Amino acid sequence: MQPPAPSAHTVPSVGNVGVTTPSIHPWQPRPEQSGPTSVVSKHREQPATQIPILSTLQTATPPLSDTTPLPSLLQYVDNDLLRRRSEYNYPPAEAYFCSACGKLHNGARIRSTYLPLTCGCWMHYRCFIGHVVQQGPNKRGNKNDCCPACGTQLFIWEGIVVLTLSQRTDVLLPNYQFTWRDSYADEHTGYAVTSDRSAYESDCALISALIQKRFLDTFAPNAPASRYADASPDLTACYYGVLQDLGHYGRPRAKWLSFSRTGSVGFFLFGMIVVLKMRGFLIEHHAAIVETEGWADFENTREELRGEILKEVRGGGWSWAAVESG
Ligand SMILES: [Zn+2]
Ligand SMILES: [Zn+2]
Repeated sequence: MQPPAPSAHTVPSVGNVGVTTPSIHPWQPRPEQSGPTSVVSKHREQPATQIPILSTLQTATPPLSDTTPLPSLLQYVDNDLLRRRSEYNYPPAEAYFCSACGKLHNGARIRSTYLPLTCGCWMHYRCFIGHVVQQGPNKRGNKNDCCPACGTQLFIWEGIVVLTLSQRTDVLLPNYQFTWRDSYADEHTGYAVTSDRSAYESDCALISALIQKRFLDTFAPNAPASRYADASPDLTACYYGVLQDLGHYGRPRAKWLSFSRTGSVGFFLFGMIVVLKMRGFLIEHHAAIVETEGWADFENTREELRGEILKEVRGGGWSWAAVESG
């Protein structure tokens, strides 16, 4: 069942924000658009939930990241697996057959790099990713954070990293349907959440609504004065405000956006998703803002976040190569 479209009173459509007015500052929204009556504001009093405080992204330090000996899945794929890349596609005779699918190393239906995992098992890269994107043990009973063949735990599994990898390798992410017990109506977006995909779409809709609301709030009469010489909106403060709101509402709720509670690269990836959504919204609906000081600062924040993700992926500061996607 497809989730119904969100009703207008619950999630303000991004398209309603409109274009800019050419009056004083070209990035300012029209006066009549300065107050979306979103359900978001009605739920302000909801008690905070027990999740990491997303606004701590501002300090660019993931919680407890040094306490885990296992790498993040992204670090595992983009760093650990690349150490033996010179051996790729040249398995020893005893590893000619894929430990995951059983087919010959060069006999996969879709061409894929054949490589050794750190546990020593050889398999097609797509077979490895195919196992990782599932949300339950495989036929051998090995979980998704383990080698599909021998069951050694290899990395920290995070939904948001899996989403990233599945998009990158074009491996379909299974869309699990919820039982009626697990299904719910999202009180903040109006979406009927009945599957992983609808949970993801509902979280995305809330992110978009909060971005719009926080941005328009900077034009409210009681908003703090701009800290920039050109009086442009403080987009960076806006961004951290959105993260703070998301933490307040207990998001992300979707499995596809989940990240490790013990801290890992997924924490930063989520921040990056929000940055990119905000960036897309501003470019599409408030294009003139790219000429402002506030925008320049916002772009610096995005670059810093990108640097943090790279640092996490590199682990001890060493990177073996660029992203491997075959
Ligand atoms: Zn295989
Ligand atoms: Zn193994």
